[in-house]
Amino acid sequence: MSLNTQAIPKIIVVGGGAGGLELVTKLGRKLGKRGKAQVTLVDNTQTHIWKPLLHEVAAGTLDSHQDEIEYLSQASHSGFRFRLGRMDQLDRDNKTISLAPTLNAEGDEIIPRRTFDYDYLVIAVGSISHDFGIKGVAEHCLFLDTTSQAESFHGQLLEAYVRAHTQGRPIDQGQLDVAIVGAGATGVELSAQLHEVSHLLSAYGLDEVKPAEIKISIIEAADRLLPGLPAKLSKATEVELDKLGVSVLTNERVIEITEDDIKTESGKTISAAIKVWAAGIKAPLFLSQLGLATNNINQIEVKQTLQSVTDDDIYAIGDCAACPWVGHEGNVPPRAQAAHQMASLTYKSIKKRMAGKAAPEYHYHDHGSLVSLGKYSTVGNMMGNLSKGSLMIEGLFARVMYLSLYKMHQVALFGFFRVGMLSLSHLFRRSVHPKIKLH
Ligand SMILES: Cc1cc2nc3c(=O)[nH]c(=O)nc-3n(C[C@H](O)[C@H](O)[C@H](O)COP(=O)(O)OP(=O)(O)OC[C@H]3O[C@@H](n4cnc5c(N)ncnc54)[C@H](O)[C@@H]3O)c2cc1C
Repeated sequence: MSLNTQAIPKIIVVGGGAGGLELVTKLGRKLGKRGKAQVTLVDNTQTHIWKPLLHEVAAGTLDSHQDEIEYLSQASHSGFRFRLGRMDQLDRDNKTISLAPTLNAEGDEIIPRRTFDYDYLVIAVGSISHDFGIKGVAEHCLFLDTTSQAESFHGQLLEAYVRAHTQGRPIDQGQLDVAIVGAGATGVELSAQLHEVSHLLSAYGLDEVKPAEIKISIIEAADRLLPGLPAKLSKATEVELDKLGVSVLTNERVIEITEDDIKTESGKTISAAIKVWAAGIKAPLFLSQLGLATNNINQIEVKQTLQSVTDDDIYAIGDCAACPWVGHEGNVPPRAQAAHQMASLTYKSIKKRMAGKAAPEYHYHDHGSLVSLGKYSTVGNMMGNLSKGSLMIEGLFARVMYLSLYKMHQVALFGFFRVGMLSLSHLFRRSVHPKIKLH
């Protein structure tokens, strides 16, 4: 089908993550396929993995190559175009964005700098870890911001295990210890996954390393685990982690990381071979250089309609948006459920504006939070619609709710039928493959 692309609006979504990929898929299906708009996704990688799964990729309990979505394939099914590249510039007067040249692994340019015009621009580039300028973090810590970082974490973990297994002597004290800075959902979920992995690796033959010899610690500046979530949830999680032997140090502000140690303000030194930084987020720096109003963590300041306070034709959604949370202090939290809701609202907003109507307002609905402790447990709270309170959930029900979050994301991308087929094939695959990626 050839489209008259001159006459139709051009919509560009930058960032194909939890929010951006859902949005561009819906825009493509409803507007792109019907020739009502030219819809383009820009991302600096070729594939998508739902970010809340990255700790499982790092631990090896999820194989990123089996769960990733190719943007080009999704684009051809869903009526949008995909363009590979990292956005780094914006020209609001001419309504264009510019993508930096794309280089291959050897540093040779494979795609030159390109510019694209837009009528509506949606920035959905997510967030990265915030090291708060603390000495040694960038040099000595692992991060879980991208699939390649999670894969590299897994590679290093396996390498350390294989080395310990074959060294012909008992492991040295602390040789495989892991310390995670930050007791948010990422740090907590990763600690439980790593505990499970130490047992799985032993069961798969790396049995010179005894799981009990590996110490997993979480270090947190606040006075409790999961500081952004209800206190009851923190308590339940602490009990579960205690059963696993994960050591939790709260009220400990990290001030320096060296090759071997983590140093805290109170004078403690925690030694660990593997150090993971999972303490706080910020939006990518280039957002603060685009001429749009941003806050102190580079998030684009948006109105209640998710339009930039500087420019009505530019939306920001997901972790990179600073959107006031009506009725609460501060902004909408950086969560997958917020990115999902913002994607739905932005689709409606663009459609309305194309019809000459006013942009609707976004109000964050907190449906609760779930924290997965791998095969051991899942804990969470669900927000009641009728009461102001929340309901604590645990065990199988919580696990099903947790898994359904990812299913909802998949349904937004593929529809119910294909997700049903995918889930079945996943079950069959699990029956013949190991429970952990072993290479
Ligand atoms: C390990 C981990 C566990 C988590 N667990 C949970 C959880 O249990 N529940 C929950 O609600 N949230 C969780 N989160 C947070 C959740 O993943 C994020 O809130 C959510 O992914 C934000 O979605 P987004 O669309 O804003 O950005 P992302 O999903 O991060 O996507 C951003 C996209 O933008 C692309 N991009 C970045 N810069 C550029 C650029 N300059 N040009 C082009 N493309 C670019 C990236 O490649 C990426 O595809 C977790 C996060 C992590 C790291």
